[in-house]
Amino acid sequence: MTKLIIDSHCHLDMPAFDKDRQQVLKSARQAGVGGFVIPGTTAGRWNKVLDIATSAGDIWPALGLHPYYCDEHSQADLDGLADLARREHPVAIGEIGLDLFLPHLDEKKQRHYLEAQLDLARDLDLPVILHIRKANDQVLQILKQHPVKGGICHAFSGSIQQAGKFIDLGFCLGFGGMITYERSRKLRRLATELPLDAIVLETDAPDMSGEKHRYQRNSPEYLPEVLDSLEQLRRESREEIAARTTLNLQQLLSLKIPGFMLSDNMTDRHP
Ligand SMILES: [Zn+2]
Repeated sequence: MTKLIIDSHCHLDMPAFDKDRQQVLKSARQAGVGGFVIPGTTAGRWNKVLDIATSAGDIWPALGLHPYYCDEHSQADLDGLADLARREHPVAIGEIGLDLFLPHLDEKKQRHYLEAQLDLARDLDLPVILHIRKANDQVLQILKQHPVKGGICHAFSGSIQQAGKFIDLGFCLGFGGMITYERSRKLRRLATELPLDAIVLETDAPDMSGEKHRYQRNSPEYLPEVLDSLEQLRRESREEIAARTTLNLQQLLSLKIPGFMLSDNMTDRHP
């Protein structure tokens, strides 16, 4: 029970899973993964995300326009997102953000869609799932003008100071396969030093494979390997890391998680 963990970020709607999606879900559940959050990326994929999520009680949809596809998005998509989110009650608006790592992505366009979706999340009182690369300070600045109730900085990569600023704004930081690599020194130090109540687990499948599955399709089946790394790095027990990160996600996204109860050996900070 206590080892139940949740993949806070897996793109199960992607074609990479079309051939064996049910098998992947089945073996992930057998490995102890008790829930899956599928973030939205483009308007064209929202219905697929919703279809997969409604097929089982342990899969939750987020809806959003990903910065990576900013050339495909339109004002009609923003309007459509507002309508669909009001009707379908996703657990978050995401995945949205700012990617300054890839030079071909138009920063102005990305900012436009990010700001509009932050405002929508605020209107709907929903958390957000953020994709940020080489833009932590910029996004912190944008969040000042477009505040939201919080959410997740997915695949967080930044300084402990930047992490602290996101935590102050109600965010948890997502850690995935990258922390399984010993060479990810900076990221592993961060995952060691952050308070446990600021961490959620993720795979970002089919991308960002961990060390054991390098160059292969990533999958929520491998989420326990992220837990393995955190167990090696941190002082808390495996059970406590599993239970606390699951509780963090449950609270952030208001999830109803089948079979999840607080473990006896974990102290609730808010009795
Ligand atoms: Zn993603």
